[in-house]
Amino acid sequence: MIIYKSEQDMAAIRASALILGLVHGEVAKMIEPGIATQKLDDRAKEFIFDNKAYPSFLNYKVGDRVFPAALCISINDVVVHGFPSNYVLKEGDIISVDCGVYLNGFHADSAYTYPVGTVKPEVEALLNATKESLYQGIEQVLVGNRIGDIGAAIQEYTEKRGYGVVRELVGHGLGKSLHEDPQVPNHGKRGNGPLIKNGLVIAIEPMINMGSKAVYQDRDGWTIRTKDGKPSAHFEHTVGVINGKPEILTTFKYIEQALALAR
Ligand code: MG
Ligand code: MG
Repeated sequence: MIIYKSEQDMAAIRASALILGLVHGEVAKMIEPGIATQKLDDRAKEFIFDNKAYPSFLNYKVGDRVFPAALCISINDVVVHGFPSNYVLKEGDIISVDCGVYLNGFHADSAYTYPVGTVKPEVEALLNATKESLYQGIEQVLVGNRIGDIGAAIQEYTEKRGYGVVRELVGHGLGKSLHEDPQVPNHGKRGNGPLIKNGLVIAIEPMINMGSKAVYQDRDGWTIRTKDGKPSAHFEHTVGVINGKPEILTTFKYIEQALALAR
């Protein structure tokens, strides 16, 4: 069942999303060769708790498994749901940082994939295409369209460039729960799926592989990797439908500020 959000709910999600945007900015400042990914998680937790919010992913349960961190940190061939660790970032890696913030009863969820130092041109191209596919998907979030229109746009944009679109993991509705209906696949057929209406809030999150779409789950029960070992990118925004059109509730503004300063 899809839970449509009131104006007040939407305002609460904007407040969570602002803190989330700032968290991403703090993490973005730290991403460089030589840093252990655990340090990124430590900073994210500190920032979220300092702002009287709660990290949505920390202690998130799926069955009897409990996610141990504030951030999902997914490096190179890891698609999503990797753990922060003592792994030290090195030049040429890519790192997806996925975070959720819970404040005043509502979640916001977003993710960004960074190059660490200089990466191969084909890896840079994967990052750019995945980010652009997110916006191609968001453009379809119009009253009267259907959820399938979002996935179709993402799939067309990325498959045309020879990339693999992960099928096993999808975007989702969110609000009082981190994961609500509807599922928002990154592939699909135009005109299929639930109708898009005002008050809908969804996380759109293309997971795009440089090679084949095939993935598998590590023995830790969380980490998702590409079967061919090639890199995968992931970008995510939380989007609300207001007056018939998409409003991007989360923001990459603070990430972009941090990256501009680092240049
Ligand atoms: Mg996320
Ligand atoms: Mg999500």
